[in-house]
Amino acid sequence: MSQTNNSTIVAKFGGTSVANFAAMSRCAKIIINNPDIRLVVVSASAGVTNLLVKLGNEVLSSNEKESVLQQIRNIENAILNDLGRPIKVEAVISQLLEQLAEIALHPLLVTSTKLKDELLSFGERMSSVLFAEVINQVSGESLATAFDGRQVLKTDSSFAKAEPQLEATKKQAEQILKPLLDTKVVITQGFIGQDNFGNTTTLGRGGSDYSAALFAEAVDAFALQIWTDVTGIYTTDPRITDKARPISEISFDEAAEMATFGAKILHPATLIPAIRSGVKVFVGSSLEPDAGGTWISKDVDYRPAYRAVALRNEQTLLTVKSPEMLHATGFLARVFAILAKHKLSVDLITTSEISVALTIDNPPNTPVAALLDACVNDLRSFCDVNVESDLALVAVIGNHVEHDDNKGGAGRIFSSIGEDKLRLICHGASEHNVCFLVKQENAKDIVRQIHDYLFPA
Ligand code: ADP
Ligand code: ASP
Ligand code: MG
Repeated sequence: MSQTNNSTIVAKFGGTSVANFAAMSRCAKIIINNPDIRLVVVSASAGVTNLLVKLGNEVLSSNEKESVLQQIRNIENAILNDLGRPIKVEAVISQLLEQLAEIALHPLLVTSTKLKDELLSFGERMSSVLFAEVINQVSGESLATAFDGRQVLKTDSSFAKAEPQLEATKKQAEQILKPLLDTKVVITQGFIGQDNFGNTTTLGRGGSDYSAALFAEAVDAFALQIWTDVTGIYTTDPRITDKARPISEISFDEAAEMATFGAKILHPATLIPAIRSGVKVFVGSSLEPDAGGTWISKDVDYRPAYRAVALRNEQTLLTVKSPEMLHATGFLARVFAILAKHKLSVDLITTSEISVALTIDNPPNTPVAALLDACVNDLRSFCDVNVESDLALVAVIGNHVEHDDNKGGAGRIFSSIGEDKLRLICHGASEHNVCFLVKQENAKDIVRQIHDYLFPA
């Protein structure tokens, strides 16, 4: 049996890093320059998954479908052309594009979550094949091989948000993936997996980071590198303010909290396997691989009261009131039983004896909207429900945020925003965050305000 060297690195490249031939060539050099990178996990080329989601979710005329398919073909063919259309690679890509067009025309597509996951898998399946060829051309040798990651990443059958099956994944990695790493740099797909019946599943949008961490755990890697379009994790999304600063080192807890509260740089589940297996995680930019980045690990020396500000849009607030003055515990138990029945997970919550206000993450193009409607109907059978949307959650992440004397904790932060702009405040539930629910239209300004207050230039 093959032994993965304890210096093995798993590297994940996101959508912009594999957007086209030039981006792929830059990433190929990162791999070629570091012989410890043995396993590579790729996203679909930028834009492709959004186009696939459009095909799966919207009722489109055949002309509209054809136009979306053509946009996908253009992205893949541009890379193929820059590669000089090698016969074998061209054959694989053509076949995948044909299969994709067939599924896109399937009459049951819009209603079948199983078919939608199959459809969504094509972006990663194509980018992995093309990227392996780019690495071979850039290196001038047969260094890399594309590998169907569904043989290893086993999941349950919850299409669109599949849960990994760790034991089965580990077993497959030992048997078929680890031996390959001795001879080849293996290029596999993020985001996709396979259930026990052989169906393709997906881990949810942005799931390639999570896949990469699961693969790193399964092959006992020493480190996981997440290569993206920014030089690491910043004090807030650098797209919101140019005052955001890079963080060189951060703990698993803090980074996990940032991801949970919307810092898109990492899928929220990414650090679960990393924490479990102790794999160190590095986040850097494939555009500037030598510019440094962020190391995420268990032990960090510096744990500041305030680390970062995260923003999560698309929040819905449900305020549920019991007109019957039900006993508080009975009322809450009924509300939560209904939420559980609809598999809706709640983020923020405030309660009084007769009412409960709770937030639900409600991103577009996901099954949540339908679940939420059904849930509200059930709740209305025994209480009053008010639904507010277009809200956003702003989270201040740090350590013992509520005890900080210097900046005055949550109270001072919210007075710096102006109380009239806040819909809900939640602090005390975790030592790592204070959260504010605000109107989506004000959210970016509020993030800038809080960021400037906590991290003055
Ligand atoms: P990839 O396609 O490589 O997975 P994503 O677009 O999913 O890349 O994630 C990278 C983006 O995350 C950045 O371009 C940035 O706008 C956003 N982001 C959000 N919060 C942060 C943060 N705190 N630090 C850095 N980037 C962040
Ligand atoms: N391609 C998938 C998406 O766009 C997964 C990922 O990129 O992480 O959501
Ligand atoms: Mg991402």
